[in-house]
Amino acid sequence: MDNETFRRCGHEFVEWIADYLRDVESYPVVSRVKPGEVKSRLPGAPPEAAESMDRIFADFREVILPGISHWQHPGWHAYFPANNSPASVLAEMLTAGLGVQGMIWQTSPAASELEDLVLDWLRQLTGLPAGFAGTIQDTASTAALCALISAREKATGFESNERGFRRPLTVYASGEAHSSIEKGVKIAGYGRENLRLIKTDANFALIPAELEAAIAADKAAGLMPACVVATLGTTSSTAVDPLRAVGEIAARHGLWLHVDAAYAGTAAVCPENRWILDGAERMDSFVFNPHKWMLTNFDCSAYFVKDPGALVRSFEIHPEYLKTGVDPYVKNYRDWGIQLGRRFRALKLWFVIRSYGAEGLRAFVREHQRLAALFRGWVEAAPDFELLAPVPFGLVCFRWNDGRRSDEELDGINKALLEKVNASGKVFLTHTVLRGRFTIRMVVGQRTTEERHVRTAWEVILSAARESAPRS
Ligand SMILES: *Cc1c(COP(=O)(O)O)cnc(C)c1O
Repeated sequence: MDNETFRRCGHEFVEWIADYLRDVESYPVVSRVKPGEVKSRLPGAPPEAAESMDRIFADFREVILPGISHWQHPGWHAYFPANNSPASVLAEMLTAGLGVQGMIWQTSPAASELEDLVLDWLRQLTGLPAGFAGTIQDTASTAALCALISAREKATGFESNERGFRRPLTVYASGEAHSSIEKGVKIAGYGRENLRLIKTDANFALIPAELEAAIAADKAAGLMPACVVATLGTTSSTAVDPLRAVGEIAARHGLWLHVDAAYAGTAAVCPENRWILDGAERMDSFVFNPHKWMLTNFDCSAYFVKDPGALVRSFEIHPEYLKTGVDPYVKNYRDWGIQLGRRFRALKLWFVIRSYGAEGLRAFVREHQRLAALFRGWVEAAPDFELLAPVPFGLVCFRWNDGRRSDEELDGINKALLEKVNASGKVFLTHTVLRGRFTIRMVVGQRTTEERHVRTAWEVILSAARESAPRS
């Protein structure tokens, strides 16, 4: 493609994206294609001859777009959001245009220094303690793996990197912790049977006394406790583990404390939400995802550590071909994580933070929390619905329940209700299981979600319940 065609298509595509973001509400939220349908409409072999951009773009609109679920739809209330914003999309375009691979300072000094700067902005924005240093990981899963590896190295005096595991190390997290912790425990070599899932209280938060007991039992059995993971905002119900109490236990036993705030970390831009970080000075590592609730398109995960030395010592490599004269004076982020090559993700964060300002970010979070509280109120006031967990942020966990049926029956009814709601195409909600009960999750976190959308969601739910729930 010559540069002039690129220019023409670039203008056309930006027009298309602007229209898309304006009109995204007119699409069914979730794609309605059947498994295999997209693939069946495309040739199985690559084209021998070059194709024109116009033809490729036409196929994008006709074949790919119907197979897209619209995460930026204001009726997206599923999982957690992965919101973008005009500022982040524009920055991502520049990032692709520059095509930088920022593995070390020299391969683009601005990429390294902007990452250093913007992560400290995030630290300030969320009220993390001074001295924590940040780096961008692709996802919270990768950050958890980094934390588990650092914990492993610290517990073994950096021996396991050299000689492998000598004795079993144990890891602790609540039974509500994200599946990435179990995955990290497997990959980092701890072994799944050495992960202790600690009991949670009525609000789904880790019970410190149970943690203490589990650590004591493992020590008595000759095992070596290495790491505790606290979750601020669990995936199922946004429960908040008591950080201060967990931190005290971790400190007493000399364990690494990793804090997973993948979704809820963004809430800490508002001072009224900073209670979740009470006790943060005891953390060894902390992660949250600007790619979930902070307007920065996927992927961008902010990973902070108290002692960068321990992180770098766990991951550093020094092949001859990567040595430069400035190494003693700069941060080479290749040593701050798993991958060598790195995308220039700091640019989109910088664009987002500047284009919203701290004020704009706070207003955004507050509005979502207000809307979630409004929705919670409707659930509480409705005779045939019940709230199943507290609502500290933007997630409401609830189910239909007329008080006259077994949990088993209710599971089936709520499952059918959720399917009906989603078939409307106006909204998309997902589920979880809390204390064995099928639970509908309603998240408010999309950039474009307004009060009228949340009202629509509730109306869709009520009318689905009128049509499908049993009467007796
Ligand atoms: C979403 C989520 C994760 C995983 O996030 P990725 O960035 O997709 O790896 C981890 N922990 C919690 C609590 C989450 O909600």
